[in-house]
Amino acid sequence: MASSVRVRFAPSPTGFLHIGGLRTALYNYLFTRHNNGTFILRIEDTDQSRYVDEAEQDIISSLEWCGMQIDEGPESGGDYGPYRQSERKDLYHTYAEKLIENGHAYYAFDTPEELNQMRERLQKSGNPSPKYDAITRQSMKNSLTLSQDEVEKKLKNGDDYVIRLKVPRRETVRFEDLIRGHVSFETKGLDDQVLLKSDGMPTYHLANVVDDHEMKITHVIRGEEWLSSTPKHILLYNAFGWEPPEMAHLPLIMSPSGGKLSKRKAEEEGIPVNTKEYIKQNYEPEALVNFLAYLGWSPGDDSEIHSLKDLCELFTLDRVSKGGAVFNHKKLLWYNEHYLREQSNEQLAERLRSIAESEEIELPNDDFLKEAISLLKERVSKIEEILEMGDFFFKDPESYDEKALKKWKSDSHDLVKQYRESVADLDKDEFEAATLKSNLEKVIEKNGVGFGKLMMPLRIAVTGQGFGPDLFSSMELLGKETVIARIDTALDTLD
Ligand code: GLU
Repeated sequence: MASSVRVRFAPSPTGFLHIGGLRTALYNYLFTRHNNGTFILRIEDTDQSRYVDEAEQDIISSLEWCGMQIDEGPESGGDYGPYRQSERKDLYHTYAEKLIENGHAYYAFDTPEELNQMRERLQKSGNPSPKYDAITRQSMKNSLTLSQDEVEKKLKNGDDYVIRLKVPRRETVRFEDLIRGHVSFETKGLDDQVLLKSDGMPTYHLANVVDDHEMKITHVIRGEEWLSSTPKHILLYNAFGWEPPEMAHLPLIMSPSGGKLSKRKAEEEGIPVNTKEYIKQNYEPEALVNFLAYLGWSPGDDSEIHSLKDLCELFTLDRVSKGGAVFNHKKLLWYNEHYLREQSNEQLAERLRSIAESEEIELPNDDFLKEAISLLKERVSKIEEILEMGDFFFKDPESYDEKALKKWKSDSHDLVKQYRESVADLDKDEFEAATLKSNLEKVIEKNGVGFGKLMMPLRIAVTGQGFGPDLFSSMELLGKETVIARIDTALDTLD
């Protein structure tokens, strides 16, 4: 049986799920599972102008890719639906009117021109940031200044209106944030928040509070950028006479070069921004999850590797940091390497086949492929790099890497030729790593040169590259015929 803990991830479907959004989802998920609670996905799609069609599907598939199970949501269903705000419009209307009835909100009929005039007038008289507030509302066109008859007439007439929250003039709003501790805000600088827009849609604040209440959300866990909205929400909870949920605001994700990790900064630093890109680039989901969990949280010891299941057990909000968390891409790759190497050669072979198929790369038989994988997997950060670094296993080099060629010196041709002769007589079954290595040692000894003098040109001849997996094991796997043919091609092509 689930506990009473109910937690929601509430993205707006305005684009593909951002990596910061994914971390928010993950922290909500870890907290829910740790407390044996319910994880809810709520789609906050009240801003129709920013709505993106594929976004909801992208959010759901991103969470699934990471292994997060949604207990209640637009696709999973649940007792508190619908889980898309656009399908809950009437509810917000009813609640906004309740606030009018109890004196905490009012209709405002001001036209955009009238609002501009008010702002200009106040700016001229020395107020740099005019507000629609406890003072100005008294001289505007709203249900507090107009007679009841006039208001009813306007409503009947279908005149445009918004519903605004009557923000108290001078009050300090206080709350305890589970991460930040005591937080307080003055209402002095606040506008009378619009709750219901003239198109009948609720604003984020109204819909968010109504839904958190209606869906019995016990903990709101979201990014720090929403901290300044929280006093408005607390005012709303007070106006409704509801108990607010517990609040926890997560630290910002920072760019390695400083400042918030914006889309632009991420792109500049080669950090993929959307979860979708991590999926497309074949990152290991376990690595991204493990990495994101540590982006603002730690279990308080030196441990770093934890599965999603472990993380659910370990995660508590009191270990989330207040300060910004720097996105260290190298660390993510380190995690990726770890989870990649944990997989068997069979598993990797199967995955590589499907990647290769979509990229129209032809792969050798399973035994060969698994051998190649075992030589390569210690050297790559991402699975697809096995195909890049290991392409010489799958086809003859079509050209020689230019940078590597700088190591092809005037004596290279002769040394490689001598090596070819030394291995040409080996039987097929003698063509194995240890022998291939000792033959190389004999050649360099005879010529009185260092290891690299022959090793590098030989590598270039056989693989086309300047680096890669162990050369002798690679040659063994490629087999005598292929290796000799490649050496011959190199000797014909390179002086
Ligand atoms: N819809 C908001 C978002 O896009 C939700 C913020 C919240 O969790 O309250 O992140």
